[in-house]
Formats: sequence, structure tokens, C-alpha cells
Amino acid sequence: MQRYLQSRAMDSYDVLVRGSGIVGKSLALSLARQGLRIALLVDAVDAQGSDVRAFAMNAASVALLRGLKVWDALPATATTAVHDMHIEGDAANGSLDFSAWSQRLSELAWIVDAAVLEQALASAVKFAPHITQVHSEVPATLTALCEGRASASREALGVVFEKNEYGHRAIAARLTCSWGHRHTARQWFRSPDVLALLPFGGAKAASGDASYGLVWSMPEAKAQELLAIDDAAFNSALMQASRGEAGELSLASERASWPLMRAQATAWCGPGWVLLGDAAHVIHPLAGQGLNLGLADVAALTKTLLEREPWRALGDEKLLRRYVRQRVAPTQAMGRVTEGLLHLFAAEQPAVRELRNRGMSLVNQLSPLKRWLTTRALDS
Ligand SMILES: Cc1cc2nc3c(=O)[nH]c(=O)nc-3n(C[C@H](O)[C@H](O)[C@H](O)COP(=O)(O)OP(=O)(O)OC[C@H]3O[C@@H](n4cnc5c(N)ncnc54)[C@H](O)[C@@H]3O)c2cc1C
Repeated sequence: MQRYLQSRAMDSYDVLVRGSGIVGKSLALSLARQGLRIALLVDAVDAQGSDVRAFAMNAASVALLRGLKVWDALPATATTAVHDMHIEGDAANGSLDFSAWSQRLSELAWIVDAAVLEQALASAVKFAPHITQVHSEVPATLTALCEGRASASREALGVVFEKNEYGHRAIAARLTCSWGHRHTARQWFRSPDVLALLPFGGAKAASGDASYGLVWSMPEAKAQELLAIDDAAFNSALMQASRGEAGELSLASERASWPLMRAQATAWCGPGWVLLGDAAHVIHPLAGQGLNLGLADVAALTKTLLEREPWRALGDEKLLRRYVRQRVAPTQAMGRVTEGLLHLFAAEQPAVRELRNRGMSLVNQLSPLKRWLTTRALDS
């Protein structure tokens, strides 16, 4: 006990959060609400406000951000409720529809402006008591690594990041559209690429001039071609891929891109350190679940630390393993599901194509299965 008290006195902070992305800032806010003294190591380069992505967020993530007083601070144009989801296979008979109304939900998910969410979190951090923003490492009882997929600190700890690189790349951008989005998310599984249009711009854009967040993933070579062509040629490729089913689509931002992989750290914690978010796991964005998993990590670690025995130090590996036990299984399950979908929809063999399109039609007719799938996506 005396050793613990001595080490506590030497530590300036209870927790050092390394990495100030959405997961890092959310963790800092969440732990500060317990009265813990937090140091948040902020980026040397401030990239805030430049992310063109729109994130699909589930009910659990929204509840976490609401609890942090961030969700209700977002402007109405930054959040759009998804009431319907329409998914198409690569044949006329293969499609799948999800509706919040038929499942007695107020919405299936929310689409959030990534840049605005980052800014709202940054403002909340600035005014939060117990959080000090630092620019270099400071001593702390526990270090939480939230540095994203390329975490240097994870590497310095010697933790292996097992990667399955797909050789695919996702292109993201903001789009305008001639039709209202009607709160409908659309996805086309077009072997081998996956095109998603996420309704964007809030309720106002539902019927008037609409916006969409684009996530279009495809093999690397095709992505490079689409990144190299001019806006007009890109718009016409987009119209061809969406078959004009969403109206006239035009680029309204730069195109940004990310290589795609499934990855997982072989160890998530050790004495005095723990991994969260993309530093621990990366999945394909086709199901829009990577950040939701990261925010579920934040909720689980917060609860684990809050419920610790009074004598147990924050950096105690036994304590941190309780958090890891809660998070590894759901993360692996989501990784397997997204990878399974990716392989299923990338297969070119006519028999597999026929089977998957029939499968989609079958699932479409099974309400209990659709309800189960929706619940899983809402609670990751
Ligand atoms: C195209 C695309 C679309 C996606 N869409 C969705 C979606 O709809 N829904 C969803 O849930 N998820 C989605 N995701 C996944 C989501 O983007 C990530 O899971 C999420 O952004 C991870 O957040 P993070 O804070 O863990 O990591 P990051 O966002 O990578 O943040 C890490 C932070 O740490 C900083 N950092 C790095 N190294 C250091 C260091 N050594 N010291 C200090 N700071 C450091 C970085 O600068 C950065 O600010 C998508 C991903 C892609 C690629």
C-alpha cells in the first residue's frame, strides 16, 4: 500500500491519453467525469475540420456522446437520422430493406459530420475540469493509447498488430444531390466494389437540396484511377455506379482515401497501459462500425475503472484485463461479419452471385432476422 501511495504521489496524472482523435477525446472526457486527473496528449499538427467523412453511429455511441454533453451541442445540420436503409446486390432480384418504422425504432442509426464532431469534442475538452492538454509525454499511473491504426507507442511496446490487408481502398467525399435524401442510407454491393451514400445535412436536406456522405471502397488500382480523374469524370462514374437511383450526384468536397484492412493487436493491455479504438482493432468500413467499436471501448474502460476496488491502482494489469475480456469477443465478431460480407460480395463466380442475391431476397422477407441484425448493429 505504501509503495502504491508513493508511486501515486510521484505521478502527476491518473491517466495519460495518447492520441486526440474521437476515441481519445471521448475517453478523456469520460474519465474526467469520474474526477480522475487526465493529461491528453494532443497532435502536433491540428487536422481538425478537414475530415470529409460522415460516420454512421449506433444508439450506444450516441448515448455515450450525449452523456458527455457533446451530442446535444452538435448543430442540427451535423446529425441526420437514418429511417430507412436500402441495400442492393448486383442483380435485379437481390435487395434488402431495413426500416426503423417496421422495427418500432425512432431511427436505425445517425449519420454524423466527422469534422464537426471532432470540433465539438475539442471544445468540450477545452472547458472540462480535470483535463490538461499536453504536447509531450507526462508521468501517469495509466497510459491509454488511442493513437489510431498506425500507433507508434503500440509498436514501441512491442505489441504485434496482426493485419489482413485487403488491397482495397475507400474513397470518401461529400456529395450534393438533386433529390432529397429522405433519411435513407443506400448501399450497392457491386462486386468487387461497395458504394455507400449516407444521408447528410440534417432533416432540412431530407426533401430539398440533399447531401450525402460517400464511402466507395474498391480494389487499389481502380481507386487510384478514380482519384486521378477530374471531378466531372468522377461524377459520371458515380452516376453509373449508382445507376442514377439516388438522383444527380456531384462532388462537393475533395476526395480523401484510406487503405482498407482488418487488424487486431495481439495484446490490448499490460502493466500501466491499455489500447482503445483503431490502435487496438481496425475493420472494413462497409458496415460503418469501426468508430462505434472504439466508443464501446471507451464506455467499457470507463465502467471498469469506476468499479475497481478502492485499493486497486488504475494501471493494475488485472484490472485492465477485465476491460479487455469485455471487448475482444464483440470486436472479433464484428470483424468476422464485415470480412464475411466483403468476401461474399467480392466473389465473381456466377453460382455465388446467384446465391447471394437470392439470400438477400430471402433475408428481406424474414422480419425476425432483420430485427436481430439491426439490434446487433445498434449495440456493437
Ligand atoms: C472511409 C472510412 C469510413 C468510415 N466510416 C465509419 C462509420 O461510418 N462508422 C464508424 O463507426 N466507423 C467508421 N470508420 C472507422 C473510423 O474512422 C475509425 O474507427 C475511427 O476514426 C478511429 O478513431 P480513433 O480515435 O481510434 O483513431 P484515429 O481517428 O486514427 O485518431 C488517432 C489520433 O491519434 C493521433 N496520434 C497518432 N499517433 C500519435 C502519437 N504518437 N502521439 C500522439 N497522438 C498521436 C492522430 O493524429 C489522431 O488524431 C470509417 C473508416 C474509414 C476509413
